[in-house]
Parts: sequence; C-alpha cells; structure tokens
Amino acid sequence: MFKKILIANRGEIALRIQRACREMGIKAVMVYSEADREAKYVKLAEEAVCIGPAQSGLSYLNMPAIISAAEVTDAEAIHPGYGFLSENADFAERVERSGFQFIGPTPESIRIMGDKVSAKQAMIKAGVPCVPGSEGELPDDPVQIKRMAKTIGYPVIIKAAGGGGGRGMRVVHTEAALVNAVQMTKAEAGAAFNNAAVYMEKYLQNPRHIEIQIIADKYKNAVYLGERDCSMQRRHQKVIEEAPAPGIPRKVIERIGERCVAACKRIGYRGAGTFEFLYEDGEFYFIEMNTRVQVEHPVTEMTTGVDIVRTQIMVAAGEKLPFTQRQIQIRGHAIECRLNAEDSYNFMPSPGRITMWHPPGGPGIRVDSHVYTNYFVPPNYDSMIGKVIAHGDTREQALARMRTALGETVVEGINTNIALHRELMVDAKFMEGSTNIHYLEGWLADHARK
Ligand code: ADP
Repeated sequence: MFKKILIANRGEIALRIQRACREMGIKAVMVYSEADREAKYVKLAEEAVCIGPAQSGLSYLNMPAIISAAEVTDAEAIHPGYGFLSENADFAERVERSGFQFIGPTPESIRIMGDKVSAKQAMIKAGVPCVPGSEGELPDDPVQIKRMAKTIGYPVIIKAAGGGGGRGMRVVHTEAALVNAVQMTKAEAGAAFNNAAVYMEKYLQNPRHIEIQIIADKYKNAVYLGERDCSMQRRHQKVIEEAPAPGIPRKVIERIGERCVAACKRIGYRGAGTFEFLYEDGEFYFIEMNTRVQVEHPVTEMTTGVDIVRTQIMVAAGEKLPFTQRQIQIRGHAIECRLNAEDSYNFMPSPGRITMWHPPGGPGIRVDSHVYTNYFVPPNYDSMIGKVIAHGDTREQALARMRTALGETVVEGINTNIALHRELMVDAKFMEGSTNIHYLEGWLADHARK
C-alpha cells in the first residue's frame, strides 16, 4: 500500500480523500491555492503545499506545480478528485511518466471516454445501448447535417464532444434553427473546451438520469455498485441525487449493470467510473462515462456499504477488488442534497464569510463539507459548500431524516440553497419519486419569486 498520497483537489472532496487516507494509515499531502489557505483540510494536514494563486488555471490546473509538489514531498500517488484535472488524460500521463501512480484509469481510457464521440463509439462496440444520433462528429456540410436531423427526428440536441458540467449543449426543434445552432455550439465548444467537435443526438422528451457506478481492478475484475437517480437537475447540473432509483425493477438494473461491467472488462478499465444513461419508457440510453469519483458517490456508499474512495486507492495500489458482485447488496435508500453558496431562487452566487455553521446529525445522516464557522467561501470556484446525505431503511425514512437534517442546518453570513431543498423534500411529486430531468426546471418556473 502507498505510504503517501498527494490530493490534487480542493473543497469537500479534498477532505473526503484526506479522511480515507487517515483511515488507511496513509499520509496525505494537501495542495492549496492562495485562496484556500484557511481550508479545514489544510489546517488538518500533516503536509500542505501552496501551488499558486486563486485562479485555478494557475493552481489546481497547474500540472507542473502539482507534480513538483508530489516530488518535493515524496508522495507515491496522486488522487485527482473530481473536476479540475481528474479527467485530463495528459495529466494522468504526466503523473505516470514522472513516476507517480495516478489514482484513476489509464490515460488511454480517460482519452477514449473523455471524448463523448469516441466514448459512444466504444460503448456501441461493447453492446451498451446509446441515444440515437450521429455516428460521430458532425460534418461541415449543412445539407448532410439536415439530412441527419431528419433521420433522427426533431427535437435533436447538439452536444460538444469535449463538453462537461452541463455546458456545450443546444436543443434544436426545427430545421430552420439547425445549422445556426450547430455553428454556435461549435464556436462555444472551441472556446470552452478547446475542441470544436460536436455531435447530434435525439433529444429525449421525458427521460430520467440514471447512472451506474462501477469499480474495477487491474486484473479485469469489475463490479457495479447499483444505480443512482440524478434527475433533479437545473441547467443540466445535478441538485439532488438518490440511490436506488425509485420504481425501476432490480432485474432491469441488473441487466444494464452487467452490460457496464462487461464494457469495463472489454476496455480494460480500472478504478471507479460512472456510466451515465437517460432512461425513458423502460429503456436505457448511454450518454457519457465519467472516469473519476463523483460528487454523488456517498449515496452509493451508504446503500452498499462500500467505501468508494478507499477502494479506488486499493486498486490503484495494485490490490484486487475486495468484493465480488454477489457480495454487493443494496440496503435501504439514500438521498443527497448539494449545499451551494447561492440564493435559493435566483441562484446568484454568494461567496463570503460564514458567520455560523451548524451541520445536522443523528441516525443515518452524513455531512461531507470542508466549511466551518468563520470560513470564507472564496468566489473563485464552484459554489458547492458541502453535501447532506440521509440514509434510511426506506425512501420515506430517508426523506424524513433529510427533512429533519435540513431543519437543523444553520448557515449564516452567506446565502445558500437550503430553503430550496427544504421545499423540494415536501414536494408531492418528488415525494412520489421518478421525476424526470425537466421536473425541477418546471418547478422553479412555477415557483419563480419576484
Ligand atoms: P455533461 O458532461 O455536461 O454533464 P451529459 O451528456 O452528461 O453532459 O448531459 C447532462 C444532462 O443533459 C443530462 O443528465 C440530461 O439532463 C441532459 N441531456 C443530455 N443529452 C440529452 C438528450 N439526448 N436528450 C435529453 N436530455 C439530454
């Protein structure tokens, strides 16, 4: 096992990985930007290295600074967390070339899956069902593009091959709007992701977002850890996640889970990963694969009892998966609310000093957060300040525990979206389960505040 790991991330996930290291008796080296000097995990760290100024381009995305931090501290491996460099194949390659173990899949896997066009092609080959669409990147010829859209059927969605974080997507309802939409998405994709390639998919009308968590070792053992329902989204970004997905029969999940495991074996995948699907009328359609740990991993940890971060570290160190598929049992239900430093209704970011932080507790409650009373939320990064996860024997119990937890949570000094979560936890439709990906947007429009 590793003696020392460098954690190339910030925020709650940096703390989450630091905790896993402590538990495993591994020393953790934290890196931080000048804006994160006061972070809890930096204060708790045995070793911490400043890697640059607040701007992520100069710190958390600064590959040479991160690699030299690993060199000067004698770390053996680098955990990239999520976001930042976690899905950057060049980074994974540089880490390994510099003699460190990258805690994640091989650079080749990241490269194939990081490009949504090549990912879909790989999945089609591996027998995973995909959203109907263009076979590959869209050509320049407007006539050909129009012909494709006609075959697929409107509405269609134009998506950036290199897109992420809910950006680089445009829905098109008519042929008249098509060519212009393709050009605009291309221009945006080129600027945002340094890759102007776009592709076309059928725009599904009422799907749910269902994803399968997998984990694999270097010896072609792969296991799926059940599914998550992440349909509660705003602007294609997840707000609430849960496991298992309400109302989907286990047999249906088992079938798709087994396909994902087979795909992992076929591509020689190692580490944790997520196959994201849209689910409509009983059918799964692959949209993308994330080759890293995800924000919503705790709902899977709470329903399977598997520590995903610990297992990531074990398989990166060359150990075999410590469990088989048969040993994975789903126990109860878990729901996660992402707490953001933003207004509950107009979503304006609200960085600044937290004058009072009182997290919830009690049976079945888990809080993953790096903040504390008097912590300053920097304006430079994602607005997420933590996650509240509630587990119960049933979905009803998980919901009841979440309501109690949100009722206890106190955050003063900044605006948060806790009020929104409190309302959603008593919303009749959400309580019923099985809301689709458009539900929250519609709810927000109906509840628009002046
Ligand atoms: P990102 O990498 O930016 O997260 P994804 O491909 O995972 O992008 O899509 C994010 C979300 O966008 C999905 O969960 C879904 O809500 C919506 N979406 C993506 N593709 C489609 C589609 N073909 N039809 C309908 N909605 C889609």
